[in-house]
Amino acid sequence: MSSQSLSNRSLVEIDRAHLIHPVASFRGHEAHGARVLQSAEGMWLTDIEGKKVIDAFAGLWCVNVGYGQDSVVEAAAAQMRQLPYATGYFHFASEPAIRLAGELTALTPAGLDHVFFTLGGSDAVDSAIRYIVHYFNAIGLPDKKEFIALEWGYHGSSSNGAGLTALANFHRGFDLPRKWQHHIASPYPYRHPQGDDDAAVIASSVAALEAKVAQIGADKVAAFCCEPIQGSGGVIVPPVGWLKAMREACTRLGILMLVDEVITGFGRTGPLFACEAEGVSPDFLTVAKGLTSGYAPMGACFMADHIYQAIADASPLPVGHGMTYSGHPVSAAVGLEVLRLYREGGVLANGAVTGARFAERMEAVKAHPLVGDVRYRGMLGAIELVSNKVTKAGFAPELALGDRLTQMTWDNGVIVRCFANAVIGFAPALTCSPDEMDIIFDRVELTLNQLL
Ligand code: PLP
Repeated sequence: MSSQSLSNRSLVEIDRAHLIHPVASFRGHEAHGARVLQSAEGMWLTDIEGKKVIDAFAGLWCVNVGYGQDSVVEAAAAQMRQLPYATGYFHFASEPAIRLAGELTALTPAGLDHVFFTLGGSDAVDSAIRYIVHYFNAIGLPDKKEFIALEWGYHGSSSNGAGLTALANFHRGFDLPRKWQHHIASPYPYRHPQGDDDAAVIASSVAALEAKVAQIGADKVAAFCCEPIQGSGGVIVPPVGWLKAMREACTRLGILMLVDEVITGFGRTGPLFACEAEGVSPDFLTVAKGLTSGYAPMGACFMADHIYQAIADASPLPVGHGMTYSGHPVSAAVGLEVLRLYREGGVLANGAVTGARFAERMEAVKAHPLVGDVRYRGMLGAIELVSNKVTKAGFAPELALGDRLTQMTWDNGVIVRCFANAVIGFAPALTCSPDEMDIIFDRVELTLNQLL
């Protein structure tokens, strides 16, 4: 055994013994260990055994600019040399955080003029929840504290946000959701009784929100929270016009709207923000992932001006919400360079070109005997496998198809996200070429054929 494989083996053993992995079964991880990744370039990842795979999931829907972008690395290194840390507390600041705040608020939907930087998406959502509570106290409506979100939604795993998340894994054993966290049905066309009729799907979501607000009491509901496309729930793509209709319903019902664009932000669905496509301006907008493209941790919570002014007017005292690393200068420097790459470096434009190939391959794979549904927008999508295309019957849980597909696709040299309910998610870097998109689909189709 070479010293290299010996050290790889001890890496795996240390990992099994000491590292707690996000969203993993503790015993399952001890038994199976991890696939340890070592390096990356463009669309390709290499593990410690030298296996090279194409990454059709941009890490965890985050590396939108692809791996190996030297200008981002240089921006981080330069900032580390010059000023590796500066607090944002107590009216201190650093230049990159200020510049990023200025650039982003000029690009977000109208009215979202203020931004609070976080470390990722969970604390961006958590910050929005805390600010919403603070806002209603500030304007003298302290009973408005209930939140409504969607079934199949994912809003992170902070103590507050995990309860808005509606995925069973995040609730089991955690006493979630809490009493103030409510859910309504997802606009899931493939599994909706009137799924072929966009207007009916939209109308049923609006009616469900109205009914839930009526049930709780409009004087008690603070906000409705949703993703424009539900990512971790299985890339559920609502009909065009859904987000706008929900915005209008929130306004009519006198509740705030929090749109969580942690996945859909930064070109993933085409425009910089998915809200743009429907002309929607929420009261709060959360982002992370593509903000720094995964090169450094950072998220952000945007706040509409009318909320900011109400909080500002209510009290001269400090608003007690903050983290040591809010507006971290290295992450902010990374964010500025990544933003430049999206707009001036051709990344969004490339995403549009390869997005067309993505759509072609998605439409073609629909004919496969195991594929019940394909759904996509921009460079985000999923295929849903079924055991019967007519009845749309899924697969028995004991087949553990999600885990099997994860292994099979890995063996075939492609990383996709295989959900437990036999949904295969795609979110390749926006820098992916059409030829690389063909490689991705050829490898996924090979896997589907092996299942027949
Ligand atoms: N919100 C959405 C829509 C997400 O998809 C995620 C993560 O996938 C989060 C929040 C949580 O973000 P993070 O994992 O950066 O805490």
